[in-house]
Amino acid sequence: MTVKVALAGCTGSIGRQTLDVVAASEGRFDVVALAAASNETLLREQITAHRPSTVSVVDDAVRQRLAAEFPRVSFSADVADVVADADVVVNAVVGFAGLPVTIDTLRRGKRLALANKESLIAAGPVVQPLRATKGAQIVPVDSEHCALHQCLRAGGEVRREVSSLQLTASGGPFRGKSLDDLRRVNVSEALTHPTWSMGPKITVDSSTLMNKGLEVIEAHELFGVGYDRIDVVVHPQSIVHSMVTFTDGATVAQLSMPDMRLPIAYALSFPDRFDVPFGGVDWTTLRRLDFESPDRATFRCLDLAYAAGRVGGSAPAWLSAANEVAVEAFLAGRISWLQIAEVNDATLQRHDGARLASVDDVLAADARARQIARGIAETFTHSAGTVGA
Ligand code: NDP
Ligand code: MG
Repeated sequence: MTVKVALAGCTGSIGRQTLDVVAASEGRFDVVALAAASNETLLREQITAHRPSTVSVVDDAVRQRLAAEFPRVSFSADVADVVADADVVVNAVVGFAGLPVTIDTLRRGKRLALANKESLIAAGPVVQPLRATKGAQIVPVDSEHCALHQCLRAGGEVRREVSSLQLTASGGPFRGKSLDDLRRVNVSEALTHPTWSMGPKITVDSSTLMNKGLEVIEAHELFGVGYDRIDVVVHPQSIVHSMVTFTDGATVAQLSMPDMRLPIAYALSFPDRFDVPFGGVDWTTLRRLDFESPDRATFRCLDLAYAAGRVGGSAPAWLSAANEVAVEAFLAGRISWLQIAEVNDATLQRHDGARLASVDDVLAADARARQIARGIAETFTHSAGTVGA
């Protein structure tokens, strides 16, 4: 039977790799819906190749032009409209904008192949109850969480026998650098990742270790493990994607080359496995696997995320929103790389302690945190002068 796939964020790094997996599946998956923000050229190619019945586009002019070209396709401005006809929804939108897709997929009792970690992090208390909807299921695409999902399956999923989770981190482009070195890093250096090729937001997040911090919160939300039992270990080769240690001391790990098509295929095929291998390890050439502790004093965003996670409620939403504002300001050359952590820290210090009981609460928390973060980033911009130098 053909599995109907909706793909939100189809023109991005995860989106394009999802379409590679679909192409390799030889008809096992059918793309019924696509969503993007504004990349008209690529979206046109994808619509021509996949003939989806529904396409959501944020940009009004792009949507109108494509609607005129493809009269049989139903066009929408609402990203959540992709969910309706699908068996499985891949959420590969970047940032908080992915929230409606996560919420709607679970509400409708469908499988969510989740790359968009920000929606789960910002809306954890609202997303959790929706996971109990009949048929609703989250299968993580984020490589570390997909690895944990596989390790927990291998361990028989007896949660009381789980002692701790080890999330691996490549360390990003600035691993081993001192605070002094980091004063001078520029946008193109932050966008050069040693092992993964990804969209700009997550690449900058990898350079600050905020990505790993957000992933700690993501792991807590997905697997219900306390923050004291989630560790981060730097593993520069990005081959061990994460590990679970059980109460008897045994550690189970998942290994593959850094190729996101493997976790994407896992999430699409679950509970089966895909028979086209992406990212298999060549054991004849693999020489070594290294592990070291993260430099938490220099890469402050990691501990900011643990702190926000422990506070819970709307604190992770505030951190994630502040970080989106800070990364955007960094990419635009308005603040320095070190100031990303400062914007995040200063915003979190003004967290108002609001609880999250509804999607509206999440939207309000996000808006409030963004407003505060923008104000903080502006003060940095005005006092900087040498940003990006
Ligand atoms: P990209 O920046 O490459 O792609 C983002 C996608 O989201 C694009 O298709 C973009 O459309 C679309 N988009 C942006 N805003 C909206 C919106 N408001 N409504 C609908 N679509 C929108 O990001 P990545 O693929 O790198 O990352 C996507 C998500 O996956 C992130 O949450 C990231 O953290 C996560 N992830 C990514 C990994 C990777 O290897 N890339 C690994 C693990 C997790 P357009 O092109 O038109 O702007
Ligand atoms: Mg990851």
